[in-house]
Amino acid sequence: MAFEGLGERLQATMDRIKGKGKVTEADIKVMMREVRLALLEADVNFKVVKSFVNDVKERALGQDVMTSLTPGQQVIKIVRDELTALMGGENSRINLSNKPPTVIMMVGLQGAGKTTTSGKLALHLRKKHNKKPLLVAGDIYRPAAIDQLQTVGKQIDIPVFDMGDKVSPQEIVTNALQHARDEHLDTVIIDTAGRLHIDETLMNELKEVKGIAKPDEIMLVVDAMTGQDAVNVAESFNDLLDITGVTLTKLDGDTRGGAALSIRSVTEKPIKFAGMSEKVDGLEPFHPDRMAQRILGMGDVLSIIEKAQENVVLEDQKALQKKIKDQSFTLEDFLSQMDQVKTLGPLDELIKMMPGANKIKGLDKMKMSGKEIDHVQAIIRSMTMEERENPEKLNASRKKRIAAGSGRSLQEINRLLKQFTEMKKMMKQMTGGKGKKKNPFGGM
Ligand code: GDP
Repeated sequence: MAFEGLGERLQATMDRIKGKGKVTEADIKVMMREVRLALLEADVNFKVVKSFVNDVKERALGQDVMTSLTPGQQVIKIVRDELTALMGGENSRINLSNKPPTVIMMVGLQGAGKTTTSGKLALHLRKKHNKKPLLVAGDIYRPAAIDQLQTVGKQIDIPVFDMGDKVSPQEIVTNALQHARDEHLDTVIIDTAGRLHIDETLMNELKEVKGIAKPDEIMLVVDAMTGQDAVNVAESFNDLLDITGVTLTKLDGDTRGGAALSIRSVTEKPIKFAGMSEKVDGLEPFHPDRMAQRILGMGDVLSIIEKAQENVVLEDQKALQKKIKDQSFTLEDFLSQMDQVKTLGPLDELIKMMPGANKIKGLDKMKMSGKEIDHVQAIIRSMTMEERENPEKLNASRKKRIAAGSGRSLQEINRLLKQFTEMKKMMKQMTGGKGKKKNPFGGM
């Protein structure tokens, strides 16, 4: 996973200041020096680092931190907020036109992941936005790009428009748009040609395609693994084509993360998606706030919940979100969530998103078995509905009954109850429930 080194260093710095009852100017100076080094080491653009450090310092030395009851935690909150702002603040959604077809033009260097991302995006738009996409094979130069797009299209059952590699991309796009209208396909995703380096011929061609396609979205696909280069590429494409959004691919690799942290402030264009695997469902909307929390080891509970919710109908989703917000999430809800989790695949991937998970040594080697989930479910199933709703009612004799009923030990039952209480606490903090102001990271 990306950001591991950065996360570790930032967290070590934060841990030192976290519990401090008094934070001096000298403390902040020392901390900011470490934060600066951590960011530079993660390959964040030096100008970006400079202004980031200045912003945090200015706020950290401000009145409300020094006079607050938990200054150490206030400082951490500032770092989190500024990291979030650096990556763009809110999640920026893809531009969809209300006059179909929406046209999305995918651009980027060869190997960045354009073709793969085109397929992923088509699937995402069909699943999440109920769209009927058409994929357009506009890369006539890279050998096999057309076949690759056809293969992806077949895999996800989305039509692919191609005219071979003897026709100009301009002509292909003109025909593709007509085809989309004829077939009532409301979203056109154009996979364009890339080069190994930016050159004039390519840019002129892309500009012409842009002129014909009049895209609602020009999505630049950049490979996060290329670090500073990714930022330079983004800058050039933006200057020449005025892009509207960025997808960072290969964030599942062990990139140091500098690109994710610099692109937004260098180009002023939002990162809209992150590629998290080679697979066709490996595209996630990019949430700066969640990413900042992940980097700082505060976990990404919302993404876990969303992942778990992908197959659930919208109504259930809303109900669940409301429960989390109102803090009325019960063991009964937990039970049905676990059924969802079981269908999700590798649990260790999910666990890595949990707060503090990166501090657990050997987690990489650990594979949580479905068996453990079965045990937890057996325990909850042995409870009465009333107990599931009000676990505080579980006294010693009730626990004994549940242990006998589920065939699990008392320790396991106590562990589950403790975990559940902590999870609720976490949800409360993440959703800005009560107590957030007073102590945003209490219990961490
Ligand atoms: P294009 O030349 O820009 O069209 O690049 P491709 O779509 O062919 O992708 C280049 C390589 O990167 C392929 O091997 C993809 O499987 C891989 N790839 C693309 N996106 C991701 C991603 O998010 N994660 C990982 N691990 N690999 C990716």
